[in-house]
Amino acid sequence: MKKIVIATKNKGKIKEMTNAFQGLDVVLIPLSGFGDLPDPVENGRTFAENARIKAAFYMKHTGCACLADDSGLEVEALGNAPGIYSARFAGYHADDRTNNEKLLAELAHAGRTESPAAYRCVLVFMDKDGTELLAEGRCGGIIRSTACGTGGFGYDPYFYVGDKTIAELTLKEKNKISHRGAALRKMSQELKEYLHENRNHE
Ligand code: IMP
Repeated sequence: MKKIVIATKNKGKIKEMTNAFQGLDVVLIPLSGFGDLPDPVENGRTFAENARIKAAFYMKHTGCACLADDSGLEVEALGNAPGIYSARFAGYHADDRTNNEKLLAELAHAGRTESPAAYRCVLVFMDKDGTELLAEGRCGGIIRSTACGTGGFGYDPYFYVGDKTIAELTLKEKNKISHRGAALRKMSQELKEYLHENRNHE
Protein backbone atom coordinates (compact mmCIF):
# COMPACT_ATOMS: atom_id res chain seq x y z
CA MET A 1 0.00 0.00 0.00
CA LYS A 2 1.22 3.48 -0.90
CA LYS A 3 1.74 5.82 2.06
CA ILE A 4 0.42 9.32 1.36
CA VAL A 5 0.67 12.21 3.81
CA ILE A 6 -2.34 14.53 3.73
CA ALA A 7 -0.66 17.94 3.79
CA THR A 8 -3.34 19.83 5.71
CA LYS A 9 -4.19 20.44 9.36
CA ASN A 10 -7.88 20.97 8.52
CA LYS A 11 -9.90 18.03 9.97
CA GLY A 12 -12.79 18.58 7.53
CA LYS A 13 -10.49 18.24 4.53
CA ILE A 14 -8.83 15.12 5.98
CA LYS A 15 -12.27 13.52 6.30
CA GLU A 16 -13.27 14.48 2.73
CA MET A 17 -10.00 13.10 1.32
CA THR A 18 -10.27 9.88 3.30
CA ASN A 19 -13.80 9.37 1.91
CA ALA A 20 -12.76 10.19 -1.65
CA PHE A 21 -9.86 7.70 -1.69
CA GLN A 22 -11.69 4.75 -0.17
CA GLY A 23 -11.07 1.75 -2.38
CA LEU A 24 -7.60 2.94 -3.49
CA ASP A 25 -4.52 1.00 -2.45
CA VAL A 26 -3.30 3.79 -0.16
CA VAL A 27 -2.71 4.52 3.53
CA LEU A 28 -3.44 8.15 4.32
CA ILE A 29 -1.33 9.64 7.09
CA PRO A 30 -2.26 12.92 8.80
CA LEU A 31 0.43 15.57 9.35
CA SER A 32 -0.19 15.23 13.10
CA GLY A 33 1.62 11.87 12.91
CA PHE A 34 4.92 13.74 12.35
CA GLY A 35 4.97 15.91 15.48
CA ASP A 36 5.50 19.64 15.36
CA LEU A 37 6.29 20.50 11.74
CA PRO A 38 6.91 24.06 10.54
CA ASP A 39 4.44 25.77 8.17
CA PRO A 40 5.34 26.37 4.51
CA VAL A 41 5.51 29.91 3.10
CA GLU A 42 2.59 30.06 0.67
CA ASN A 43 3.94 32.73 -1.66
CA GLY A 44 2.69 31.31 -4.97
CA ARG A 45 0.70 33.45 -7.41
CA THR A 46 -1.90 30.81 -8.24
CA PHE A 47 -3.84 28.03 -6.47
CA ALA A 48 -1.68 25.48 -8.31
CA GLU A 49 1.59 27.12 -7.23
CA ASN A 50 0.50 27.21 -3.59
CA ALA A 51 -0.71 23.59 -3.63
CA ARG A 52 2.64 22.58 -5.20
CA ILE A 53 4.59 24.55 -2.56
CA LYS A 54 2.71 22.73 0.25
CA ALA A 55 3.07 19.27 -1.33
CA ALA A 56 6.83 19.73 -1.95
CA PHE A 57 7.44 21.22 1.52
CA TYR A 58 5.76 18.37 3.41
CA MET A 59 7.22 15.71 1.09
CA LYS A 60 10.67 17.02 2.06
CA HIS A 61 9.84 17.18 5.79
CA THR A 62 8.13 13.78 6.04
CA GLY A 63 10.02 11.74 3.41
CA CYS A 64 6.64 10.46 2.12
CA ALA A 65 4.50 11.14 -0.94
CA CYS A 66 2.18 14.06 -0.16
CA LEU A 67 -1.20 15.38 -1.23
CA ALA A 68 -1.91 19.09 -0.76
CA ASP A 69 -4.70 21.43 -1.78
CA ASP A 70 -5.32 25.12 -2.19
CA SER A 71 -8.72 26.68 -2.68
CA GLY A 72 -10.57 29.95 -2.62
CA LEU A 73 -13.32 32.21 -3.88
CA GLU A 74 -13.20 34.35 -7.03
CA VAL A 75 -15.76 37.17 -7.32
CA GLU A 76 -16.16 38.65 -10.80
CA ALA A 77 -17.17 42.16 -9.64
CA LEU A 78 -14.02 42.29 -7.48
CA GLY A 79 -11.63 41.38 -10.29
CA ASN A 80 -11.60 37.75 -9.08
CA ALA A 81 -10.58 38.70 -5.52
CA PRO A 82 -10.09 37.33 -2.92
CA GLY A 83 -8.68 34.36 -4.90
CA ILE A 84 -5.54 32.93 -3.31
CA TYR A 85 -6.00 35.39 -0.41
CA SER A 86 -9.45 33.98 0.53
CA ALA A 87 -8.37 32.64 3.94
CA ARG A 88 -6.81 35.96 4.97
CA PHE A 89 -8.95 38.44 3.00
CA ALA A 90 -9.59 40.56 6.11
CA GLY A 91 -5.95 40.38 7.26
CA TYR A 92 -3.52 38.06 9.00
CA HIS A 93 -5.88 37.24 11.92
CA ALA A 94 -8.99 37.00 9.72
CA ASP A 95 -11.79 34.53 10.44
CA ASP A 96 -14.98 33.66 8.53
CA ARG A 97 -16.92 36.56 10.09
CA THR A 98 -14.36 39.27 9.29
CA ASN A 99 -13.70 37.84 5.81
CA ASN A 100 -17.42 37.97 5.02
CA GLU A 101 -17.70 41.52 6.37
CA LYS A 102 -14.86 42.53 4.07
CA LEU A 103 -16.52 40.72 1.14
CA LEU A 104 -19.80 42.63 1.66
CA ALA A 105 -17.95 45.94 2.09
CA GLU A 106 -16.00 45.40 -1.17
CA LEU A 107 -19.18 44.40 -3.02
CA ALA A 108 -20.94 47.57 -1.78
CA HIS A 109 -17.87 49.63 -2.72
CA ALA A 110 -18.18 48.22 -6.26
CA GLY A 111 -21.84 49.37 -6.26
CA ARG A 112 -23.18 45.81 -6.37
CA THR A 113 -25.49 43.64 -4.25
CA GLU A 114 -24.50 40.50 -6.15
CA SER A 115 -21.92 39.14 -8.58
CA PRO A 116 -21.12 35.94 -10.45
CA ALA A 117 -18.47 34.01 -8.53
CA ALA A 118 -16.71 30.66 -8.38
CA TYR A 119 -15.03 28.50 -5.79
CA ARG A 120 -11.85 26.88 -7.08
CA CYS A 121 -9.71 24.07 -5.74
CA VAL A 122 -6.41 22.62 -6.95
CA LEU A 123 -5.00 19.37 -5.56
CA VAL A 124 -1.36 18.39 -6.06
CA PHE A 125 0.03 14.93 -5.33
CA MET A 126 3.82 14.76 -5.16
CA ASP A 127 5.63 11.45 -5.02
CA LYS A 128 9.01 10.92 -3.32
CA ASP A 129 10.83 11.21 -6.68
CA GLY A 130 9.10 14.52 -7.46
CA THR A 131 6.48 13.05 -9.84
CA GLU A 132 3.47 15.33 -9.72
CA LEU A 133 -0.25 14.83 -10.39
CA LEU A 134 -2.62 17.82 -10.49
CA ALA A 135 -6.42 17.99 -10.41
CA GLU A 136 -8.68 21.05 -10.47
CA GLY A 137 -12.31 21.63 -9.54
CA ARG A 138 -14.61 24.63 -9.95
CA CYS A 139 -18.05 25.45 -8.61
CA GLY A 140 -19.86 28.39 -10.22
CA GLY A 141 -22.50 30.45 -8.42
CA ILE A 142 -23.51 33.94 -7.32
CA ILE A 143 -22.34 35.92 -4.31
CA ARG A 144 -25.24 37.91 -2.84
CA SER A 145 -25.19 40.32 0.08
CA THR A 146 -27.92 38.39 1.98
CA ALA A 147 -26.78 35.44 4.10
CA CYS A 148 -28.75 32.20 4.35
CA GLY A 149 -28.08 28.89 6.12
CA THR A 150 -25.80 27.74 8.92
CA GLY A 151 -23.90 24.81 7.36
CA GLY A 152 -20.57 24.77 5.54
CA PHE A 153 -17.86 27.29 6.38
CA GLY A 154 -16.12 30.35 4.97
CA TYR A 155 -18.15 32.25 2.39
CA ASP A 156 -20.86 29.55 2.08
CA PRO A 157 -23.78 31.57 3.59
CA TYR A 158 -23.36 34.16 0.78
CA PHE A 159 -22.62 31.74 -2.09
CA TYR A 160 -25.80 30.88 -4.03
CA VAL A 161 -26.21 27.96 -6.38
CA GLY A 162 -29.72 28.33 -7.76
CA ASP A 163 -31.99 29.68 -5.00
CA LYS A 164 -30.06 28.13 -2.09
CA THR A 165 -26.72 28.96 -0.52
CA ILE A 166 -24.08 26.29 0.00
CA ALA A 167 -24.63 26.81 3.75
CA GLU A 168 -28.15 25.38 3.28
CA LEU A 169 -26.90 22.11 1.77
CA THR A 170 -25.97 18.89 3.58
CA LEU A 171 -22.30 17.91 3.36
CA LYS A 172 -23.24 15.15 0.92
CA GLU A 173 -25.10 17.61 -1.32
CA LYS A 174 -22.20 20.06 -1.12
CA ASN A 175 -19.61 17.42 -2.06
CA LYS A 176 -21.59 16.54 -5.21
CA ILE A 177 -21.31 20.07 -6.61
CA SER A 178 -18.31 21.55 -4.81
CA HIS A 179 -14.94 22.53 -6.26
CA ARG A 180 -13.17 20.24 -3.76
CA GLY A 181 -15.53 17.32 -4.50
CA ALA A 182 -14.82 17.67 -8.25
CA ALA A 183 -11.04 17.94 -7.74
CA LEU A 184 -11.04 14.93 -5.40
CA ARG A 185 -12.95 12.76 -7.86
CA LYS A 186 -10.45 13.65 -10.62
CA MET A 187 -7.45 13.09 -8.34
CA SER A 188 -8.82 9.76 -7.16
CA GLN A 189 -8.98 8.57 -10.79
CA GLU A 190 -5.48 9.92 -11.60
CA LEU A 191 -4.01 8.30 -8.48
CA LYS A 192 -5.67 4.99 -9.31
CA GLU A 193 -4.02 4.95 -12.75
CA TYR A 194 -0.66 6.18 -11.39
CA LEU A 195 -0.55 3.55 -8.63
CA HIS A 196 -1.48 0.85 -11.13
CA GLU A 197 1.40 1.87 -13.45
CA ASN A 198 3.86 2.14 -10.55
CA ARG A 199 2.63 -0.81 -8.48
CA ASN A 200 6.14 -2.10 -7.73
CA HIS A 201 7.15 1.15 -6.09
CA GLU A 202 6.58 1.76 -2.41
P1 IMP B 1 -7.27 26.97 2.07
O1 IMP B 1 -7.52 26.17 0.83
O2 IMP B 1 -7.30 26.13 3.30
O3 IMP B 1 -6.08 27.85 1.95
O4 IMP B 1 -8.54 27.91 2.29
C1 IMP B 1 -8.90 28.89 1.42
C2 IMP B 1 -10.05 29.74 1.91
O5 IMP B 1 -10.99 29.80 0.84
C3 IMP B 1 -10.84 29.25 3.11
O6 IMP B 1 -10.32 29.73 4.32
C4 IMP B 1 -12.21 29.86 2.84
O7 IMP B 1 -12.25 31.21 3.23
C5 IMP B 1 -12.29 29.79 1.32
N1 IMP B 1 -12.92 28.52 0.91
C6 IMP B 1 -12.32 27.46 0.30
N2 IMP B 1 -13.22 26.47 0.08
C7 IMP B 1 -14.38 26.92 0.60
C8 IMP B 1 -15.69 26.34 0.71
O8 IMP B 1 -15.96 25.19 0.30
N3 IMP B 1 -16.61 27.11 1.29
C9 IMP B 1 -16.37 28.35 1.76
N4 IMP B 1 -15.19 28.93 1.71
C10 IMP B 1 -14.19 28.23 1.12
